[in-house]
Amino acid sequence: MTANATRVLVLNSGSSSLKYQLLDMHDTQSSSGSAAGRLAVGLVERIGEENSRLVHTPLATGGERRETEGAIADHTAALKAVAAELATDGLGLDSPELAAIGHRVVHGGLKFTAPTVIDDAVLAEIERLVPVAPLHNPANITGIKTAQALRPDLPQVAVFDTAFHTTMPEYAARYAIDVETADAHRIRRYGFHGTSHAYVSRKTAELLGKDPAEVNVIVLHLGNGASASAVAGGRCVDTSMGLTPLEGLVMGTRSGDIDPAVTFHLKRVAGMSEDDVDVLLNKKSGLIGLCGDNDMREIRRRIDEGDERARLAFDIYIHRLKKYIGAYSAVLGRVDAVAFTAGVGENAAPVREAAIAGLEEMGMAVDASLNAVRSGEPRLISPEYARVAVAVVPTDEELEIAQQTYALVNA
Ligand code: ADP
Repeated sequence: MTANATRVLVLNSGSSSLKYQLLDMHDTQSSSGSAAGRLAVGLVERIGEENSRLVHTPLATGGERRETEGAIADHTAALKAVAAELATDGLGLDSPELAAIGHRVVHGGLKFTAPTVIDDAVLAEIERLVPVAPLHNPANITGIKTAQALRPDLPQVAVFDTAFHTTMPEYAARYAIDVETADAHRIRRYGFHGTSHAYVSRKTAELLGKDPAEVNVIVLHLGNGASASAVAGGRCVDTSMGLTPLEGLVMGTRSGDIDPAVTFHLKRVAGMSEDDVDVLLNKKSGLIGLCGDNDMREIRRRIDEGDERARLAFDIYIHRLKKYIGAYSAVLGRVDAVAFTAGVGENAAPVREAAIAGLEEMGMAVDASLNAVRSGEPRLISPEYARVAVAVVPTDEELEIAQQTYALVNA
């Protein structure tokens, strides 16, 4: 790597999509990771279909967002199309300024507790984890192989969604099921969104002017997928997602916690297949199952119009959230901050207000005027008198992946 190689390309490959960001780490470090370091962002969607779409924004040149539609057959073609867009802006992937490519990898099992430079053995291990992440890891592997083919000389780094949660104590990570069966099939709670929980818990400590080692934070990552985590002194001690992202909070389309017997019941009584139940719980449950909408903006609009189904869906969502805040307060013993993040957490003031309402005895409160402020910056929304800081801390998984990648290749 050359001395002036300060760029990192971050790739997040889904089954039919490829999201990317090109960052200049020199700039992100000097500006504590503001948009200053972001050179280009974009995404390719509907890969493999006739009407694939590439949306590219060259931030470095202040250029207009460019959108192209047309068949993009596979991930290799998608990355080539992205490389061509970047080259148009003078940001080609053949540049000596590119230091590394950082890949979001969803499942790292127990082996990967930190970002890892990818070699054949690492790739084989990510492949070995496909049975516990059948939807995500294959797409991540495709992304890695595609990038390796494009720049075989460059370090490729895997940053795992599960890594931050590997510090969970055994009693939080194990399900209370037969140990031999669990171990034979690697059944345990892994947790996801770890990159976000790591970033947001650290940023929350920064907002409080404290060292992460000194603070206990409950992070509520509320996007379409949603998870909570209990972070004690910078280390995750519990999180709400489990073997898969289905466990825990009520999400956009996932049920979160249910009695596992519901699944046998659906099979025995409703005659549903395994796949039917899988689709029901992952795609047709949560907010969309409860009221037909999974966008919190739409749900709030319907509530304002007096829609009872939307109201009930919202109340169920909040009730679950409150239960996790209570549970993690007990797990942590002392809570210094509750941090809201991701699409819902960052934007939906009514969700933050309702989730914290009635928790004054636990030292938690939300100031209505602070909560109403719209901003992309980390901020406190609790009144001065409250013992626990309640904060909105925008997440930035791409920046976290880029920073971890850059730190590793420069170590
Ligand atoms: P993911 O990365 O899991 O797809 P995001 O973190 O982008 O999700 O969150 C998307 C969700 O955020 C949307 O489904 C919507 O419910 C919510 N959301 C986005 N903007 C707003 C807003 N202004 N007000 C309320 N909710 C919002």
